[in-house]
Amino acid sequence: MEKKKIYVTEPFLPPLDEYTDKLKSIWQKNRLTNDGPLVQELEEKLAGRFDVDHVLFLNNGTTALQIAINILGLKGEIITTPFSYVATTSSIVWENCKPVFVDIDSETLNIDPAKIEEKITPSTTGIIATHVFGNPCDIEKIEELASRHNLKVIFDAAHCFGTTYKGASVFNRGDLSITSFHATKVFQTVEGGAIFTGDDKVAERVKYMRNFGHDGFGRFNGVGINGKNSEIHAAMGLCNLKYIDEVMEVRREQCQYYNSRLDQITGITYQKTSEDACVIPAYYPIIFKSEQKLLRVMNALESSGISPRRYFYPSLNLLDYVEGNSMPVAEDVSVRILCLPLFHNLKRSEQDLILEIILKNMDLE
Ligand SMILES: *Cc1c(COP(=O)(O)O)cnc(C)c1O
Repeated sequence: MEKKKIYVTEPFLPPLDEYTDKLKSIWQKNRLTNDGPLVQELEEKLAGRFDVDHVLFLNNGTTALQIAINILGLKGEIITTPFSYVATTSSIVWENCKPVFVDIDSETLNIDPAKIEEKITPSTTGIIATHVFGNPCDIEKIEELASRHNLKVIFDAAHCFGTTYKGASVFNRGDLSITSFHATKVFQTVEGGAIFTGDDKVAERVKYMRNFGHDGFGRFNGVGINGKNSEIHAAMGLCNLKYIDEVMEVRREQCQYYNSRLDQITGITYQKTSEDACVIPAYYPIIFKSEQKLLRVMNALESSGISPRRYFYPSLNLLDYVEGNSMPVAEDVSVRILCLPLFHNLKRSEQDLILEIILKNMDLE
């Protein structure tokens, strides 16, 4: 039998019969999309879970970012982090704004608030910061800077399902927060994303914007795009919600196990998480002393059928479609950081295999 490959992640899937039951209800109603009952139910359940006034379910997290930039009227320069998934930067460029990078803190891996102010110019209109690997940014500092300079704040909270900051969901923060429900995230709807806001007016605009601006038949309220999501996707979300607490708990245990075995070795460091936060692990990143050491461990894992992921790599200031000032910290971290496999069905024996390979290859100096 061919050996099973171990990927960096695998989606959690609900029991198939529970999903097909939901599909039956869709077949009975013959309603597939356009703000259907399952989309509404999912939005209500998520709003309740996170204690946010409005959750707008969208077709993915990237559309959520683009709508967020558009709705807040951001123009000109947007201050952002070079250490995130490419969508954080590309959506700024897609919305015809200029990303202005501010380097990250070497311990938290989030945008360094102490370096933001020097990058603010008369053209700056907003800040888009990512809570990297679910670790909340220095939210108060960023919000304080933004209010002093009259800037809007968007938090890319794509990794933050379940993450709380000072006891409340991080989805409540900023002018608005966005997340992703992509198949690779802790909570998935196959493809999907959301905007979270406490502002009734913003929520209403998002509803128009995700639906071409339609205001009833033949009438339009502003320009829009198609950012809707479907009943089929909402059904996946509703089924997964039933299991999400268990999914989060298992990930925590898996991380604790990695920690307990890797703690013994020097030469690996970790992201420092905020003391005010409770982070649900979306990833298990480890930081090597050099890229050479990372490559040695990564190649050893790969040759045993294990695929970790260099995440985030490369540093986004190096993209060829942005103006690239050097970002020494992000460039240095991005070549030394590796995410180990972490997903619901990852077995203890598979973790042991991964750990053995790492431990063996760390000894060779
Ligand atoms: C996944 C992700 C996105 C994009 O979400 P999609 O739903 O895949 O479009 C944006 N930002 C970050 C930090 C992500 O990890």
